[in-house]
Amino acid sequence: MQRCKMGGFIIAIDGPVASGKGTIAPLLANRLNGFYLQTGAMYRSVALYCIKHSIDLTNKEAIIKHLPRIVIKFSNGRILLNGEDVTDEIRQEKVAYASSTIATIPEVRAFLVKEQQQIALKELEKDRVVVAEGRDTATKVFPDAKLKIFLTANPQVRAKRRQEQINKLIGKKVTFDEVLSEILKRDEQDKNRAIDPLVSDPKAHGYVILDNSSQTERQTLEQIINLLKERGLYHD
Ligand code: C5P
Repeated sequence: MQRCKMGGFIIAIDGPVASGKGTIAPLLANRLNGFYLQTGAMYRSVALYCIKHSIDLTNKEAIIKHLPRIVIKFSNGRILLNGEDVTDEIRQEKVAYASSTIATIPEVRAFLVKEQQQIALKELEKDRVVVAEGRDTATKVFPDAKLKIFLTANPQVRAKRRQEQINKLIGKKVTFDEVLSEILKRDEQDKNRAIDPLVSDPKAHGYVILDNSSQTERQTLEQIINLLKERGLYHD
């Protein structure tokens, strides 16, 4: 059986839309018997809280006032918002949209960053590896992460994956060209957003860039395991 050599440490994974990070991060956490910290789910949970409490998403003061009343927990792969399992509900498109709005509020980010650090600390104390996935995980939340991965793939491959996801999820047929143009637009937006943008020079930020355009999930996973081995963080 393969095991981690050292106790707990953090791996941060970022990358553009449909780069495979949401697939690889939980697989990696599972392989390392670690904890998957899905930061996007936390932004989505705050957004869902606002929707449920009819809080106007443009009313920053109201949202900030409610933050101390929001408790987000990860439990057995489920996401609990004030004790309620919201794992499925937060996947809705309207929640995704709302989450990117509330994610621009600095106080919301500060609140969630602190929560993420506390969640990770508890796991590290149990000697568990934390696989943190999300935009600012390598730069702001865990700047000292032992391994920072920037997962990417060419826009055509990402568009194909996204098209399949959308068709499966909502049963609606979207064309490849529609999705590709959406992906290119999102890339630009993500790079140019004022707060915690997608890094345009990942290497300069200490990331290892992994292009998985022509890889299977398994190959990408093995590549990350090899990086951990090279760093003395994992052994057979
Ligand atoms: O990754 P996911 O699509 O679930 O994230 C939902 C939204 O939360 C993103 O569109 C982004 O605006 C925001 N987010 C963020 N920082 C993170 C994770 C997510 O701003 N670390």
